[in-house]
Amino acid sequence: MGETEEAIQLINEEKEFNSSTLQYFQKCVKERDVGVDYHVISVFGSQSSGKSTLLNALFHTQFDTMNAKVKRQQTTKGIWLGHTTRIATLENSLTPVKDLFVLDVEGSDGAERGEDQDFERKAALFAIAISEVLIVNMWEQQVGLYQGNNMALLKTVFEVNLSLFGHQNDHKVLLLFVIRDHVGVTPLSSLQETLEAELNAIWSDLAKPEGCENSSLYDFFDLKFTALAHKVLQPDLFMENVKELGNKFSSETPGKSFFKPEYHHNLPLDGWTMYAGNCWNQIETNKDLDLPTQQILVAKFKTEEISNQALALLLENYPVDLHCRELSDLAGKLQELKSLCLQEYDTYASRYAKPVYMDNRRDLSHKIENKFKETISKFLDVQKEDLLSQVEKDLTERSRSTPFVTKMKEARKKAFDAFEELLLQFTKLELVASLSDENEAFSIALDEACSNQSRKQLKQSVNRISKSVSSGIKEDIFFLLAHPELDLWDKVMEKFNEIVSDSTERYAVDDEKFDFQVGLSEEENQKVYKKVRSNAWTNLYEFVHGYLNEDNVVSILRDRFENKFRYDEHDSPRLWRNEEEIDNAFRVAKEHALEVLNVLSLASNSDHVEIVPDVPLSSGLDDEELEGEYEDEEGIYHEKGFAHILTASQRERAVQKFKRQANTTVIEAKRSIIRTTTH
Ligand code: GDP
Ligand code: MG
Repeated sequence: MGETEEAIQLINEEKEFNSSTLQYFQKCVKERDVGVDYHVISVFGSQSSGKSTLLNALFHTQFDTMNAKVKRQQTTKGIWLGHTTRIATLENSLTPVKDLFVLDVEGSDGAERGEDQDFERKAALFAIAISEVLIVNMWEQQVGLYQGNNMALLKTVFEVNLSLFGHQNDHKVLLLFVIRDHVGVTPLSSLQETLEAELNAIWSDLAKPEGCENSSLYDFFDLKFTALAHKVLQPDLFMENVKELGNKFSSETPGKSFFKPEYHHNLPLDGWTMYAGNCWNQIETNKDLDLPTQQILVAKFKTEEISNQALALLLENYPVDLHCRELSDLAGKLQELKSLCLQEYDTYASRYAKPVYMDNRRDLSHKIENKFKETISKFLDVQKEDLLSQVEKDLTERSRSTPFVTKMKEARKKAFDAFEELLLQFTKLELVASLSDENEAFSIALDEACSNQSRKQLKQSVNRISKSVSSGIKEDIFFLLAHPELDLWDKVMEKFNEIVSDSTERYAVDDEKFDFQVGLSEEENQKVYKKVRSNAWTNLYEFVHGYLNEDNVVSILRDRFENKFRYDEHDSPRLWRNEEEIDNAFRVAKEHALEVLNVLSLASNSDHVEIVPDVPLSSGLDDEELEGEYEDEEGIYHEKGFAHILTASQRERAVQKFKRQANTTVIEAKRSIIRTTTH
C-alpha cells in the first residue's frame, strides 16, 4: 500500500507490550527528525461499532475490519497502533499532515464485561497517559442509554484522568464523540445535550480526590461532538462527513483544529516508545503511574543515548593525528568539533526535561574536554620542548655583564609566561576549563632545566678554579719547594692562600662569604667553597708529596750544597788554592744543605706546628659532591698525613746519597788543585 504501514498490535490479549514497537516507529518515520511535531489519538467504543472502518477511511490506516477478515477480529482484543501522514479532507482526497499515531482500542462488549473491566481500565489509563484526543465512537441509538457500555467506559476515563492529572491544571484531553448512523431525525445539538447531561451526571457522582472536590468536568476535558451518516445507506454523505472531520484533524489554524498545545505530552517522538512501554508496565503491574517521573526516566535514558551518539560523531570526525604546529589551527579545529558534537546533542536532547538535558550536557562537555586535553597535551609537549631548549640556549650564551642567576630568572620567566599565554588561548576559547595541571608540570620541568643548567655552570666554575689553583701551585709552590729556606712552609702557606684567594676572587662577597652566582643559598655556597678549598688542598698535597720524594730531596740538597760550595757570596765561582780551603767550604756547604732537610721531610711552620689542612681532603671531583654531603667521606688522603713527607728511613737514605754526592764533588775539587799545581 506504499505510504502507510500496516497497523501493529501494541498491546496484545495477554496484555504484553509489543517489543518491536521501536522498529515499527523507525519504519514509519524513517530518517525524519520528528521531535515533538506529532499527534496521538485513541479510539474507544463497543465492538463492531465501526471504529476501524472510520479510522481507515479518515486516516488511510490499515486496521482490520470485520468485512475484510471474516469474523477474526471479533476476538482480537488489545490495543492496535496505526500511523499516517495523510488525512481524508474535503479539498483533497488525502491531505499531508504531521505524523499521526492512532490507537484503536478493541475492548469487549457489555455482555462479556466483568472479567475484562480490568483491561478496559488499564487501556483507558494508558490512552489518557499518551494521547491528545480520545474519540468515543457510538451508535446513535446508544445515546441516552445510561446503562450502556459507553457510559461505564466514560466513568472509567474520568476516574483515571483525575488520578493522573488531578493535581495538575495545565493538561487537558479532548473527548471527541463520534455518533454513527446519524439518521438526522434528532439533530446533533439535542444528542449533544443529552450526552453532556449524562457526562455531568457521571462527573458529579464521581468520588473526587482531595483538592478536586469542586472541580468541573470542563477543567479537565474539552468536549466535541460530531455525527456521521449511515455508511451503507448513505455512502457518499458518509464520506463527506468523514472528510469534514478530516479537515478538523488536518487544519493548522488554531481554533479550527482539534489539536491544542495543552493536549500534547511534549515528549519527543524518539522517546515515545520507551515512555509508552514504561507507562504500560507501571499500569499492568498495578503500580502508581506518575507521568512526570516517567518523563524524567525517559529523558535520562534518551539524553544519555543522544549524548553518546554526539560523542561518537565527534570521534568519527576526529582527525587521526591532529598535529598542528599552529595554535590557531588546532583551536579552530577543536572548536569546530565541539560545536558539531554539541549541536547534535542540543538538537535532539533539548526537547527533553530541561534539568536532565542540562545535566547530560555538562557530562558531555566534560567528555569532550577530556578528549581535547589529550590532543592539547600532545600539542603542548612540542611547545614545551621548544621553550625548554630556548631556556637552555639563553643560559649557555656567554655574557660577562649579566650574572648567571639573573639570566636564569629572566629565561625562566620568559618561558613560563609564553607557556601560560598558550594555555590561556585554550581556556579562553572554552575548549577546556582548566589546564592548571599542565601549568604545574611545566613549572616543574622549568625548575629542572634551570637547575641542570646551574649545576653545569657551577661545575664549570669549580673546574676553572681548580685549574687556576693547580697552575699556581705548579708554578709558585714548585719554585718555593725547589729553593727551600728554613721558613719554607710559612712561605708555602702564604703563597697557597694567595693562589686560592686569587682563583676564587670573582666569587668572593667578602672574606668569609662566597657566591658562585648560580642561585644557591648562602649555606650551599659555603659548602661549595669548602669543596673548592678541599680540592685545592688535595692538589697541594699531591704536588708536595709527589715532588718531595727521596731523589728530588737529594737533588735539592745537592743544589743547595753546590751553590754554597762552588760559589762565593758574590755568586762567583770559587778558585781553590789549597785543600784546607776546600775542607772548610765543604763543611759549611754541607751544613747549609742539611739545614733544610727537616723542612723538606716534615711540613711545619716556623713555630714548629705541623701543617694540617683546615678542610677534609677529597679524592676527586664529581657532581654529587657538589650538592650532597661530603664531610664524612673517607678520602684517600688524610689531613694529618700532609705534614709527613719523608719517613725516617727515606730521610736517612737521602742523607746518605747526598753525602756521597757531596763527597764526590769535594774529591773532584781536590783533583782540580792537583791539576793546576802540576801544570
Ligand atoms: P469495530 O469493531 O468497531 O472496529 O468495527 P468495524 O470497523 O470492524 O466494523 C464492524 C462492522 O460494521 C463491519 O461489518 C462494517 O462494515 C460495519 N460498519 C462500518 N461502519 C459502519 C457504519 O457507519 N454504519 C453501519 N451500519 N455499519 C458500519
Ligand atoms: Mg476494529
